[in-house]
Amino acid sequence: MELSILTISYLIASVTFILGLKMLSNPAAARKGNLVAAAGMTIAILATIFLYEEDGQKLGNYGWIFGGIAIGGIVGTLAAKKVKMTAMPEMVSMFNGMGGACAALISIVEFNHLLHEYNGDMSAHIPTLVIILLGLIIGSVSFAGSMIAWGKLNGKIKDFVFPGQHLLNIALLLVILALAVYLAGWTPAGASYIFYIIFVLAVLYGVFFVFPIGGADMPVVISLLNSFTGVAAACGGFLYDNKVMLTGGILVGAAGTLLTILMCKAMNRSLTNVLIGSFGGGAKAAGPAGSAQQGTVKEISLSDTAVVMAYASKVYIVPGYGLAVAQAQHACHELEKLLEAKGVDVKYAIHPVAGRMPGHMNVLLAEADVPYEKLLEMEHANEEFASTDVVLILGANDVVNPAAKSDPSSPIYGMPILDVELAKNVIVNKRSMKPGYAGIENDLFFRPKTSMLFGDAKKVLQDLIGEIKNL
Ligand code: NDP
Repeated sequence: MELSILTISYLIASVTFILGLKMLSNPAAARKGNLVAAAGMTIAILATIFLYEEDGQKLGNYGWIFGGIAIGGIVGTLAAKKVKMTAMPEMVSMFNGMGGACAALISIVEFNHLLHEYNGDMSAHIPTLVIILLGLIIGSVSFAGSMIAWGKLNGKIKDFVFPGQHLLNIALLLVILALAVYLAGWTPAGASYIFYIIFVLAVLYGVFFVFPIGGADMPVVISLLNSFTGVAAACGGFLYDNKVMLTGGILVGAAGTLLTILMCKAMNRSLTNVLIGSFGGGAKAAGPAGSAQQGTVKEISLSDTAVVMAYASKVYIVPGYGLAVAQAQHACHELEKLLEAKGVDVKYAIHPVAGRMPGHMNVLLAEADVPYEKLLEMEHANEEFASTDVVLILGANDVVNPAAKSDPSSPIYGMPILDVELAKNVIVNKRSMKPGYAGIENDLFFRPKTSMLFGDAKKVLQDLIGEIKNL
């Protein structure tokens, strides 16, 4: 009876994961989707704790289990409440790393069970050993890689490249695989040592794999690591024959893989390039200034900006990371409504890697209740720029850098960008001439059609709204 309730609980949880994931693909339903999937996960966890039985025995250890849940729950809630919107990607990376670490720990625990249960003779349990090793390797790479990504996103860790890094990465991977095959195929006497050597090498691989990745390429790596964690969790599901863990892991793995492919497309990179590591980093090391031609920068005043925008018939806003830093999404929406009331057609052009996490701009603008229909994807927006009067760039830089199209030596060369220069006027708001994430200068700021409107995005937008109201 209890087993069937457990199975039904797992079924309900699996369905909520799928429904939640589906809802996450639309910003309007994303919040609910998250809650639906979380409710499913709660059902699955509680059902496992209270209903799962092995050899007629319940899990027990309730003090440990609920103690762990309480500590994790409190830390997670406080961290989520405190985190700034701009630090979300770091947090996502950290949480992803924790998932990888869990999968690796499960493998370590289960390896020791196997070893002691069969007195070192694991030859009859090779499939289990293979899954344990897969969970260990993928989980450790995901953990170490995510920790480095976390450090890089918050600026604590810099790109680190040395000659022969690609070869070292490939050699490390081959040694890990060879040791894993030796361990699973021959179950040698010193299996325990080999197991921990594999663990250490996998952690090292995770570190070296993410260390050199620079330029603007982190989004691809983050979503790849995310899919690794999903696959590692699915290994745990296999190991415990736990359907809901398996379903959850597969869904995360598949979603992460699809996102990686989409990101690769958006960045115009091949997946092989990502797997070997270090794309973008090398070229970036060649010179932070890129090949941008220096020239004169033309500034525009707030009052002139107000006039140009209020009397335009079509305006596109290009949001970027700086808009999130300034938390100017509400002011931005207010400007859009004000212009619309004056008969201006206002839309947003969204680059797939603008900000610091996939979908960052969509989430940011949804927070300010910007209607989803106003957000145009890059390809569509690029078709519209030629008939646009004003493009207002708010804290975006790399995603509008023409070097991506014209300078083969640039670390972002090949990345599709928003072709804002096709519009009649380009107004760029940022605080200084400092570069963006890729660390390279932007020739767009020196081009004849471009005018710079310096200042913090929120303050500038608030003042601009005031100017337009006074017209
Ligand atoms: P960028 O990082 O290229 O540029 C952001 C700009 O915002 C900076 O040049 C900065 O200039 C300006 N800025 C910062 N604070 C403010 C403020 N308060 N007010 C006004 N402007 C401000 O951002 P983009 O969105 O154009 O590009 C995203 C980059 O991040 C890409 O290189 C992408 O690959 C990378 N990335 C993306 C991830 C993703 O998943 N989306 C993940 C990891 C990296 P100044 O200091 O002069 O104000």
